[in-house]
Amino acid sequence: MTRISDLLAKGPTWSFEFFPPKTPEGMASFDQAVTDLSALEPAYVSITYGAGGTARDTTYDLVVRVNEQQAFPAMPHLTCVGHTRAELVDLLEAYREHGVENVLALAGDPPKDGSDPGGDFVYATELVALAREVGDFSVGVAAFPEVHPRSTDRATDRRFLAAKLNAADFGMTQFFWNADHYRVMVEELAALGCTTPVLPGVMPFVSVAGARRMSAMNNTDIPDWLQERMDQVDGDGEATRQLGVEVATKLIGDLLEIGVPGIHLYAMNRAQSIQEIYDNLGLRR
Ligand code: FAD
Repeated sequence: MTRISDLLAKGPTWSFEFFPPKTPEGMASFDQAVTDLSALEPAYVSITYGAGGTARDTTYDLVVRVNEQQAFPAMPHLTCVGHTRAELVDLLEAYREHGVENVLALAGDPPKDGSDPGGDFVYATELVALAREVGDFSVGVAAFPEVHPRSTDRATDRRFLAAKLNAADFGMTQFFWNADHYRVMVEELAALGCTTPVLPGVMPFVSVAGARRMSAMNNTDIPDWLQERMDQVDGDGEATRQLGVEVATKLIGDLLEIGVPGIHLYAMNRAQSIQEIYDNLGLRR
């Protein structure tokens, strides 16, 4: 298996993100997408961690399975919310015993109804420290170019982010629609003395309502030109998917011009848009 920090040291990485499906049909789509996208030889893939119950076990099972079956490593996302320290130690130890060398350490979101999720940790930095204690993991963390929605102010958020990145090996961003947000975040982090590589996350959207909902949840600004393009395709599934590919292709081009340590693509258990982005950028071997 391979540590992501070692991959990043060798040059820009291209990676894909999947989520744990909840149905047998969803699992079939997941398997098909992993198989199809393996032809693009990603440096690694990551698998998100759901808010509760069975999806959490599914992440573990899929990470172990992909690591066993594929030539590239699968990195689990792991969240603090609702977990005791002992549960997180158990999970990290189980990953370590299966040879998993990478982990994305996240806070997770509190329940929307305002109830207390329980758990021993609140902030991602606490999980970074625990992962370091349990094993020799290459540890990634989340970054929000447009500032985390729960932050009191930009300067405070950037200070917490810089401290978190300094304790981790790499960062991975929330999606955004304008490369300037990423560029400014990297400049602000550098001004705080933080030069840990941060991978921009790029989402080729497939639904206008979904892209708008997720943007609103994350305080992600949708520029006027994109709002207008979205209005034009809303309700037409294939035209929306094609716009998602066009927007992601342009954004990646802008990011490559800025200079990035890699690109993390939100594949959302689908291969087609990613394949088309690779074709547009001439990346297929
Ligand atoms: P933190 O870094 O802990 O920050 C959370 C907030 O607390 C920020 O506002 C920060 O400024 C503030 N803060 C940090 N430290 C302190 C401190 N010491 N004192 C006071 N305030 C502080 N969620 C999932 O449930 N599953 C997933 O698989 C998942 N994958 C993700 C992948 C990526 C790439 C990204 C960007 C997000 C992902 N998320 C996932 C969402 C994430 O869990 C939420 O956005 C969560 O609200 C914040 O997580 P964090 O790790 O950035 O938190």
